[in-house]
Amino acid sequence: MTLTLLPANEIRYDVGNSLFPTGSRRFDLTEFEARFGSSIPLENNADLEALLSRIEQAGVHGRGGAHFPSAVKIRSAILAGAGGTVIANAAEGEPSAAKDAALWQTNPHLVLRGLAAVGALTQAKSLGVWVHEDSYSTRSSMAGAFKERAAAEIDRLPLRAYLAPHRYVSGEASAIINAVQGGSAVPKFFPTKSRAWGEGNAPVLVFNSETLAHIGLLASSLNWAPLESTLVTLLTLNGRYVREVSSDTTFAELLEPSDPAEHVLLGGYGGQWVNWQDIAHSRVHEASLAGQGLSLGAGIVAPLPNSHCGLIETSRIVEWMASQSAQQCGPCIFGLQWLAEDIQALAAGGRKVIGALDRLNDRLPQLMKRGACSHPDGVVRMTNTALEVFASEISLHRKNKCSASSTQPFFPTESEIHAV
Ligand code: SF4
Repeated sequence: MTLTLLPANEIRYDVGNSLFPTGSRRFDLTEFEARFGSSIPLENNADLEALLSRIEQAGVHGRGGAHFPSAVKIRSAILAGAGGTVIANAAEGEPSAAKDAALWQTNPHLVLRGLAAVGALTQAKSLGVWVHEDSYSTRSSMAGAFKERAAAEIDRLPLRAYLAPHRYVSGEASAIINAVQGGSAVPKFFPTKSRAWGEGNAPVLVFNSETLAHIGLLASSLNWAPLESTLVTLLTLNGRYVREVSSDTTFAELLEPSDPAEHVLLGGYGGQWVNWQDIAHSRVHEASLAGQGLSLGAGIVAPLPNSHCGLIETSRIVEWMASQSAQQCGPCIFGLQWLAEDIQALAAGGRKVIGALDRLNDRLPQLMKRGACSHPDGVVRMTNTALEVFASEISLHRKNKCSASSTQPFFPTESEIHAV
């Protein structure tokens, strides 16, 4: 399936107050300020502490996958010292993800307001946006917003875009820190105590774009209430949609009746396979899902069409993820390739299935927490859940059978997708 993506045309609104403007085009600065007001003053310590308290009370958290509390992250950056660079991460590594692109293409000023607020809170010396070099629609919207802000002299700190190579791991936080500090855009291990800022003389703090939009709302003069909404990229046979859903929305309400599925990939290619019946009545809400041992990850919900085989699709995803590593650490150099071969054997079916299954059960635990970043951990997690959820499909494949009626790939990989 080839996806040509104009996410702004595919955004749906389920909440009254919204991160998105109405309509499907970029809000310019005048329209943005008419709807969201101007920035609240952040002139002194009392202003800054008041905003930080609001962020804390609103429970703003990371929306890129880790879901870490933003106030804790900001406080640890303040302790690490002033003079750093705060980065908005607009580089979605997942080929199926589009929520941050949708946000940048419709409401860039809200993300930039959040970015400026975090810059003020942490006494940064500069601000930046990290974006894939071939994300042309996003870059064009961003450039328009930069120009309007420069003309209106809004930003007190220098603001620039950093162009990232289009690779899965180049959007990983430590890769961004590494590149902004002068290294390559590949992940790097940082000691735990300096994780918030990275190491070195020019500390770097990375925030997800949706997270910054929520902070931007709290930093707006119209006294916006914290939004209990989540942006979700929904991948279906009919295309890819970005939806903003309120916290009481269930998965059954999120999916169209025309998208029946027995299994769902939740959180993207480093996420988890789940049985539809286990989540149908769960809320699309990170804290609620955590109670079930689940996560929205990078906000991707992909119901597998019943016409497609979960083993074959998992095999394609693992092969692609193996190709995306930075080839620096053992689990990626050796482990992911072995994993890809064994999953391929399951997908191919026949007598090799049992041997491949034994090797997978043996090797999967050995790959966890062994890399400098969490890339292999995500692949292991997704594969482990595939083995559970598709157990009956594995039995079929062993007998050289398969439940699929379609041979068309469902999940996009990089070569099949146009940059947004
Ligand atoms: S774990 Fe893999 S992707 Fe992460 S830094 Fe090491 S080689 Fe690169």
